[in-house]
Amino acid sequence: MAALALLLSLTVGLSVFSGAEGAAFAEGVSVAATTGQATVTSGGAPVAEAGATPTGQATAPSGAAVSDNGYPVTYAAFSSSYAATMHLPGTDLLRIQPVRTYLDRTRPMIALTFDDGPSQYTEEIVQLLGSYGCRATFCVLGSRATKQPERIRMAVAQGSEVVGHSWNHKLLTKLSNKAIKKDLQKTNKAIRAATGVSPAMYRPPYGGYDKDVRRVSKRQKLALLMWSYDTYDWKLRDARKLFKLIQEDVREGQIILMHDIHEQTAEAMEQVIPWLVEQGYELVTVSELFYYKGIKVKPGGVYNGSV
Ligand SMILES: [Zn+2]
Repeated sequence: MAALALLLSLTVGLSVFSGAEGAAFAEGVSVAATTGQATVTSGGAPVAEAGATPTGQATAPSGAAVSDNGYPVTYAAFSSSYAATMHLPGTDLLRIQPVRTYLDRTRPMIALTFDDGPSQYTEEIVQLLGSYGCRATFCVLGSRATKQPERIRMAVAQGSEVVGHSWNHKLLTKLSNKAIKKDLQKTNKAIRAATGVSPAMYRPPYGGYDKDVRRVSKRQKLALLMWSYDTYDWKLRDARKLFKLIQEDVREGQIILMHDIHEQTAEAMEQVIPWLVEQGYELVTVSELFYYKGIKVKPGGVYNGSV
């Protein structure tokens, strides 16, 4: 009976995205709800990663960061100059998302996205991206962003994009409108406090949304960011297999879903990023991908990169 009630509660009024990106959070509960538009595998509270990473102030990375134009910079110098430019009066209200408008349009583009961080692996991935002149998008939890602001600041300073992924990974369709609003506001506030950037989109946990989630998102001036390729890296937990999978399945224009809370994902990036560059792909943020595909992102809209 309890299982049936759960199934019903997840099915009724739920319009959600395919994939199981949140299943790491939901071991034991795996419900596929189909309501015409899409499906979701979803479940309980974020338990899998609780306490998995050190909290408190992040320390500066051991290696030197490399700026987007290839110049090595020390993290401390980068961080302070960044803070100086980003915390001018009023700039916290600007919707600054770095988009390189000078890229070669004829080159195939890929948007790597990393969910559920930041974590100790975020730094490694950001440094790798920087050293290859690449960018990615990090979909961060507000609760983690407040505890590790340096890590997302570093990602933004490198040129990558940081957007929200809710406060602590609750399925938004199960919250009241008031609670959804609070969750979105709190998360963006945490990102803004850490980076000075106020994201114009977010990725709902489990890709789950319904009419209410969209309505509240629209009022909060936030678009919903989905993905077009799910690596299931949280399930694989194998750097070699993840690299092989991407080698086989990667296609131009994809938004690839991964998680920067897993060591094996960060390890795989050591091969994935140089390989993609070698294949001629330009690794871009989702905002850049949308820019080059001519996709105009509107509050309350749902985007997976398809034109
Ligand atoms: Zn997630």
